[in-house]
Amino acid sequence: MTGASRGIGKATALVFAREGAAVVVNYSKSRELARQVVDEIRKAGRQAIAIQADVARKAEVVAMVETTMREFGKIDVLVNNAGILSPGNILTLREESLDEMIAVNVKGVIHCAQAVAPHMIERRYGKIVNVASLAALGTAMADTTPYAATKAAVISLTKRLALELGVYGINVNAICPGFIRTDMLMSSGTPEEVEVRLASLAKKAVLGRVGEGEDIAYSALFLASDEAGFVTAQALTVDGGRMDFLSHSG
Ligand code: NAD
Repeated sequence: MTGASRGIGKATALVFAREGAAVVVNYSKSRELARQVVDEIRKAGRQAIAIQADVARKAEVVAMVETTMREFGKIDVLVNNAGILSPGNILTLREESLDEMIAVNVKGVIHCAQAVAPHMIERRYGKIVNVASLAALGTAMADTTPYAATKAAVISLTKRLALELGVYGINVNAICPGFIRTDMLMSSGTPEEVEVRLASLAKKAVLGRVGEGEDIAYSALFLASDEAGFVTAQALTVDGGRMDFLSHSG
């Protein structure tokens, strides 16, 4: 589980552990938060370890997968959740921010898939779930154009990885979350400003609310389950029915 120290990744790590999975809580910088997630899982009687790795750095990802194999002996599921959003439009975006988003959001998914796939291929079993974004499908939201492009790449990668790995019995799917109440959405502004922003974002969904981490976690759980064994190469939208689209093409 990449980027599992907080937000959607943390919720997904906890839900997977509750269902009996031994979980690797990957983090890049937040060692203390990752340790807290591991403690919570262990207190519930399940197995978890925290492993530091910046997914943008291939060598760190390779080392993380080696440690995982040493500790757990196999990898059934890879959830590529780590991601960053640097706000900006085509006129304002700085090149360093673009490079960083491509490195984490796109190369990160490739690095993890490359490192994990050989182990899954060996067992002719594996589930890969990539967390993309509704932004990839054409939402009409200011200052997310470059981010949307990186997430569109995640959907494209999902379909191509499904094609390349399906022959080995490996399922690869993506989730496109709408607005989810995490630090990514709430990191700027006073608590009052955040509440006003969340209330206005909630109105963009047919269901009239923003999502919670668990909304995505349970979708990931389904896609990672054997019950979804015939589902692959799909991008599952989990957004409460968002209405602010430029285009509805998937
Ligand atoms: P978040 O910022 O709370 O969590 C992101 C996690 O990724 C953090 O734990 C962070 O430390 C980790 N991370 C960042 N860079 C990393 C790196 N280089 N290596 C390893 N870990 C790294 O945000 P979130 O909302 O929980 O986002 C999770 C995923 O969901 C992201 O891919 C994001 O793009 C996607 N998403 C979020 C929303 C939303 O509304 N919150 C909507 C659509 C998609």
